[in-house]
Amino acid sequence: MPARDKTLRSASELVEAQVIKPERLAGLQKVAARYAVAITPALADLIDTANPHDPIARQFVPDERELETHAQENGDPIGDEAHSPVAGVVHRYPDRVLLKLVNACAVYCRFCFRREMVGPGRGALTGAALTTALDYIARTSQIWEVILTGGDPLLLSPRRLKDVMTRLAAIDHVKVIRIHTRVPIAAPERVTAASVRALRTGKATFLVLHANHAHELGEKARAACARVIDAGIPMLSQSVLLRGVNDDVGTLGALMRALVECRIKPYYLHHADLAPGTAHFRTTIAEGQEIMRALRGRYSGLCQPQYVLDIPGGHGKSPIGPNYLSPDRTEITDFKGARHAYAAAAR
Ligand SMILES: *Cc1c(COP(=O)(O)O)cnc(C)c1O
Ligand code: SF4
Repeated sequence: MPARDKTLRSASELVEAQVIKPERLAGLQKVAARYAVAITPALADLIDTANPHDPIARQFVPDERELETHAQENGDPIGDEAHSPVAGVVHRYPDRVLLKLVNACAVYCRFCFRREMVGPGRGALTGAALTTALDYIARTSQIWEVILTGGDPLLLSPRRLKDVMTRLAAIDHVKVIRIHTRVPIAAPERVTAASVRALRTGKATFLVLHANHAHELGEKARAACARVIDAGIPMLSQSVLLRGVNDDVGTLGALMRALVECRIKPYYLHHADLAPGTAHFRTTIAEGQEIMRALRGRYSGLCQPQYVLDIPGGHGKSPIGPNYLSPDRTEITDFKGARHAYAAAAR
């Protein structure tokens, strides 16, 4: 197999690197013209090209089904635009905001909920726009937490990251800074001593890793996460429930265990959003609940993420079960599925 030393950004580069067969070129060029493609060397190395169902390939190699859109799908599936007071800021919940510094990612996930907004050359917030965004945060005193997301904030140079972190940390009412990223997996070499130092400001800082399959946590990714955690930055994870990637309890459980073994606490399992051209990735909510029930039955409490749905239209995230309590709260189901009466007096 040819050496993969650069990020693959087009269908023809995927053919050259032998990630896809030449006969798929024409079809995938159409997809690549519509949605950004990037597969970093670190992720290309994880793809088993002999496996037609490889869970890494499925997440990052374009697929012609992405050109099929459905009526209920939406270019802004979680309604970010409806809640943006100034460029780069999404303020949906009173106590926390998203701050989107860059619109590029290290890799482009084929199921991305922001796929209409992210891509190379979509730029970053300009210096002036960043100042406007920080001014909004500084004058809005109920903002307790700032979540850096995007795009991937860890694509910023350590110098720019340090600048933003320092300016956020200087805002008195901002007590917590959270960073959502895929870089420790997609480009672990970018998690350098300098970038980790840039995250350390004295304010409570959490890093949330997007990971969907245990294969993503190779040796280099684990080492990158350890560098972050050893620096005093706790890590959480978020995963997306994806058909053909992690939609069975054994695969999902292995992912959650791999995360916990890396000292990363599973936080959210997202039901796949209604992003355009992603129907082949979506499970039903009933399937998701069944998987969550089985996960609860077989794996440590540390391995339990919360299964959530981002309500279309910008209404926020809500937990979607499964539910263990009967509607009248008189019966509770245990981890084996057996029901038990619950004394009325204790309700
Ligand atoms: C997901 C999200 C958050 C963070 O929500 P948590 O439940 O605190 O993780 C904040 N703002 C917006 C707009 C979001 O979409
Ligand atoms: S890393 Fe996140 S924002 Fe970037 S393509 Fe993947 S899902 Fe989308």
